[in-house]
Amino acid sequence: PREARRFLVTGGAGFIGSAVARHLIEASDHEVLVVDALTYAGNPASLEPVADHPRYRFLKADIRDGEAMAGAMAEFDPDVVMHLAAESHVDRSIDGPMVFVDTNVVGTAVLLQAALRHFQGLGEERKARFRFHHISTDEVFGSLGPEGFFTETTAYDPRSPYSASKAASDHLVRAWHHTYGLPIVLTNCSNNYGPYHFPEKLIPLVILNALEGKPLPVYGKGENVRDWLYVDDHARALVRVAEQGEPGETYAIGGHNERSNIDVVRTICGLLDTIRPDPAGPHERLITFVTDRPGHDARYAIDASKIEAELGWRPEESFESGLEKTVRWYLNNEAWWSAIRSGRYHGERLGLTSNG
Ligand code: NAD
Repeated sequence: PREARRFLVTGGAGFIGSAVARHLIEASDHEVLVVDALTYAGNPASLEPVADHPRYRFLKADIRDGEAMAGAMAEFDPDVVMHLAAESHVDRSIDGPMVFVDTNVVGTAVLLQAALRHFQGLGEERKARFRFHHISTDEVFGSLGPEGFFTETTAYDPRSPYSASKAASDHLVRAWHHTYGLPIVLTNCSNNYGPYHFPEKLIPLVILNALEGKPLPVYGKGENVRDWLYVDDHARALVRVAEQGEPGETYAIGGHNERSNIDVVRTICGLLDTIRPDPAGPHERLITFVTDRPGHDARYAIDASKIEAELGWRPEESFESGLEKTVRWYLNNEAWWSAIRSGRYHGERLGLTSNG
């Protein structure tokens, strides 16, 4: 059995962070403190399955608040800090970039300082197993042509305010390792999908709009390619890296599931036609091409052979099985998403206000 450790998880009320928190509680003996500011993207309902567990705690706090972060470190005394808190939506970063710089860049620096002070106060044995795990994206590498893959050594070339802010945070994390000796591990992952995904992102947006008979927005011609990974596969990879990753190392994580956006949308339509047929006709009739996103990266794809060879991780879910699970989850969890859909985010950028 693995040794129980204390995991401080920032952004644990978000899509991936809540999957990590649920996985840690359900599949390990580790203790979990979720630290989350509960922005529009943070949702305590995503943590309900673990909320009453004795190994789970929650702290509402902002990573930009140095005192609050120092307090959390002092009180919880973590062995691992998993840093997922971020502004994460590319379209929002185009409309309002400054909060991405504040949270993703400044917030990461504040958290690094608090983690470093905590690390410096540990005894030698605890120092040896301490990790600051920074969770990042493959979008920092920019855009691929039709050939090739991103790896751990791909040069940085971010194109959007979101990816530039994540790239900056990656550099800060490595600097704290080289300059101050903080034992960091860093992961760059491809696009995630699955349950509890905020309905402004492509896959949940398409599922829910299709259910409501609304247009299914596809940027440009839908030719942009993403490498999709089921969120629970990502959560398992992250815990593996936090437990077994070598200090200073980076691991690229991906699902070997390259799909163009239009393929993804058509697959969802096909699944819904089978599971919940629409008397008005096949769901594909709702596909609507909209003006492309500025600076839209053409293709992302990950070569995950390092984490596979060194840490023995592999994705378990195929894209088809993961997508079917996801569609069924949204069909069965209307209470979770209807609260968000009726709230303040209505997909304004796509001109698809759910108020009509
Ligand atoms: P999300 O937007 O669903 O969740 C982000 C969480 O961070 C929310 O709970 C929010 O309340 C919290 N948060 C935001 N600002 C905060 C602040 N200042 N202080 C404290 N908490 C704050 O995002 P996600 O999709 O779960 O992504 C999590 C991380 O993984 C991000 O760092 C993202 O860059 C990275 N990532 C995401 C993907 C993806 O496909 N979604 C892929 C690779 C990497």
